[in-house]
Amino acid sequence: MQIPGHIDPVVTPRAITPRTDGRIDLMGLSHLQIRQLFLESQLDEKAAKLRSKQVFHWIYHRGVTDFEAMTDIAKTMRPWLAQRFVIGRPQVIEAQVSTDGTRKWLLRTDDTQDYEMVFIPDADRGTLCISSQVGCTLNCRFCHTGTMRLVRNLTPGEIVGQVMLARDALGEWPKGNMAGGSDDEDDDSGHYTADGRMLTNIVLMGMGEPLYNFDNVRDALKVVMHGDGLALSKRRITLSTSGVVPMMEKAGEEIGVNLAVSLHAVSKEIRDEIVPLNRKYGIEELLQACADYPGANNARRITFEYVMLKDKNDSDEDARELVRLIKQYKLPAKVNLIPFNPWPGAPYDCSSPERIRAFSNLIFEHGISAPVRTPRGRDIMAACGQLKSAAEKKSRAELDRLAEEKQAALG
Ligand code: SAH
Ligand code: SF4
Repeated sequence: MQIPGHIDPVVTPRAITPRTDGRIDLMGLSHLQIRQLFLESQLDEKAAKLRSKQVFHWIYHRGVTDFEAMTDIAKTMRPWLAQRFVIGRPQVIEAQVSTDGTRKWLLRTDDTQDYEMVFIPDADRGTLCISSQVGCTLNCRFCHTGTMRLVRNLTPGEIVGQVMLARDALGEWPKGNMAGGSDDEDDDSGHYTADGRMLTNIVLMGMGEPLYNFDNVRDALKVVMHGDGLALSKRRITLSTSGVVPMMEKAGEEIGVNLAVSLHAVSKEIRDEIVPLNRKYGIEELLQACADYPGANNARRITFEYVMLKDKNDSDEDARELVRLIKQYKLPAKVNLIPFNPWPGAPYDCSSPERIRAFSNLIFEHGISAPVRTPRGRDIMAACGQLKSAAEKKSRAELDRLAEEKQAALG
């Protein structure tokens, strides 16, 4: 999708994950797309309709990757499918587990680009943090991902593939009796939720700006939400944007998931510095787009993310101004305070715990919830803003030069 006035980071839009062996990867495709492919492969209307429905169910509800396992499909038809199609997964390059139970996977696309996903187990839920792009063009000053040189949009298959991989790793596909799966060699079993699953929520807070890859993110989330497949509720999915104003209404209408907005500052001067996209879409425009976001109400609030940077955006005046803005735009909002997660060469420090507490209290006194998010997985560089593939280590000088180039391109 071309953003007006912005250079799309991907020259060739891709809906289907490219493969070198000529077979088509069905991962990430909708029921209708699979049906269309079956029609193009000379199945008649009736067969295409039936088979695509069955295959969709096997792929996304049962987690099957081998056509031979699709027992309600005729034995002779299974090799026919396998000759033409595959059911892929992202390639896992590295899997790490933090001392706090957070898990991070380094993944690789078929064209050898690296990206990451993170799973955060809690007592009452398990949140999968997925990536929408390899790298990010937006270069927020406090974010490690923004320093990556290569950027490419992930395909729907690569996005849905992350959820599938997490289900694989957590052993959460229905077994023969269709009951929730169990995971023997796993030490998180105490965290299972009522329906027997650990993975209960998804956040698009990994690498990339999801609203700069709108079509693929929408198509992927539709597959993830589809009732015959993974069937995750839109209320359990949160899309985080740094403020791509022209796409926000469309996101509410066409995807309808929860919205999180990376606000991080309340004045033009500071937000321009730390979130360069602010020079294009300012705070007032952004807050108006939040007020207009379809589906936001007191039962489904918009989350404002606010990274706590020492002596930058963390004063009492900042907190008061944040409250004033939320009230001015009558926003059904909650604030998530994120202690800054450091990375090598980062130009900021994290505010002190006392400052963060005071900031949170001040907002709370005005009737707005402002919890402090506990950093998770810092030891394996899995916390917010720390994601950057291992292959991408650069010197400070090189990072600064790239930052300047990107800011110049943003105009
Ligand atoms: N690109 C999207 C989503 C990915 S980032 C966005 O910016 O909203 C997810 C959240 O982590 C964002 O709120 C982001 O601003 C925040 N973040 C980035 N770097 C961080 C860091 N070093 N410490 C804490 N939070 C960070
Ligand atoms: Fe991109 Fe979000 Fe990082 Fe900003 S904070 S550089 S938008 S991933």
